[in-house]
Amino acid sequence: MVFAKAGSNYPAPIAAVDVLAKAAKMSRDDALKIEFQAFSDLSQTPQCRALVGMFINDQFIGSVAKKYGKKGGKKVTHATALGAGIMGGGIAYQNAIKGFPVLMKDINTDSLALGMSEANKLLAKRVDRGQMSALDAGNVLSKIMPSLSYEGIENTDIVIEAVVENPKVKSIVLPDVEGQISETAVLASNTSTISIDYLAGFLKRPENFCGMHFFNPVHAMPLVEVIRGEKTSDETVATVVSHALALGKKPIVVNDCPGFLVNRVLFPAVFGFDMMIVDGADYQQVDRVMEAWGWPMGPAYLMDVVGLDTAVHCFPSILEGYPERMSDVYEGDYNVSPTKLLFENERFGQKNSKGYYVYEKDKRGKPKKSVDDSVYELSLIHI
Ligand code: NAD
Repeated sequence: MVFAKAGSNYPAPIAAVDVLAKAAKMSRDDALKIEFQAFSDLSQTPQCRALVGMFINDQFIGSVAKKYGKKGGKKVTHATALGAGIMGGGIAYQNAIKGFPVLMKDINTDSLALGMSEANKLLAKRVDRGQMSALDAGNVLSKIMPSLSYEGIENTDIVIEAVVENPKVKSIVLPDVEGQISETAVLASNTSTISIDYLAGFLKRPENFCGMHFFNPVHAMPLVEVIRGEKTSDETVATVVSHALALGKKPIVVNDCPGFLVNRVLFPAVFGFDMMIVDGADYQQVDRVMEAWGWPMGPAYLMDVVGLDTAVHCFPSILEGYPERMSDVYEGDYNVSPTKLLFENERFGQKNSKGYYVYEKDKRGKPKKSVDDSVYELSLIHI
């Protein structure tokens, strides 16, 4: 059981079971010797060094964030999530569970319904596990106000925009919402890759604007990138960092560049995955290898969770942003992206139940993946 959860990369959980088994029938002193030996062996492993490094860096990030938060930000009492898709719905839920009334605005009724039902599912899980009463869950849900209009947005202190990853759409939506909110409210974009300075160019108050990039799924992922544009004020950064902390997240402040920090690192790996498929690798095998290596999900499955449409919409920012480094990607032998081909065949991933894999809901309503052989033909993917 422990091995199934911990996997083969972490020696400590198995060593703990081993110590328990060996020490169970020993005297206290002998048992302590066994424990001491196992502990000192583990302390010399590369995994231990890596985990200690992560812990120290994590503490460091936390202390830097607190300093930013102290630089005189504005108090947030009401929030707005613009867009109720994968990310907007998650952002609305996270605000509500941390006690912030949140307007969740979309142009599509189905998206609003999906956003509410996903929030409801997460809350029901907490009630089932005994982490929350049904009454409290109801109170959290009632903090999310789904809406097709901007009514009530004038009270908002922070708007987090999470509409589709399309510069044209964002360049219309952002000034539109800026015209509806108070002059002191902060406007933040959850864009994955689009330049904050570019988007700020459409706004009257660029000093009140920055990036606030959450990760998927929002409720589970601690990191939030706060992207400072050239004109973003210190007060705006402080407000957004403080709000991210209030949402229970770990904010890091980064500069504006294509892909910011995480996607600048992730997308070359995504392109590498695409190129391997063109070279004849099997996407299922790549997933298996990467998961065994320690990734929580392999790249094909990750594309399905992110949304192939969203991922493909991120491609131009990264490819055009680093032309000297990306010149080989999708040129010559690699003139085709299997991920893009699947997207063009309307396979968007979990959001429409088909991407690299196909999905059905299990008993708990969670998407369960299975293999669809037609993917190999559709995307010219060879086995
Ligand atoms: P999505 O397709 O699930 O949802 C987008 C939502 O925006 C839809 O519900 C759509 O109806 C709505 N929308 C479109 N135009 C609108 C408008 N004018 N006003 C209000 N709502 C509008 O997309 P998503 O995955 O939630 O991505 C949203 C943003 O978050 C993108 O910028 C994306 O790059 C970013 N992001 C996505 C992920 C991810 O893993 N999916 C992770 C981090 C950041």
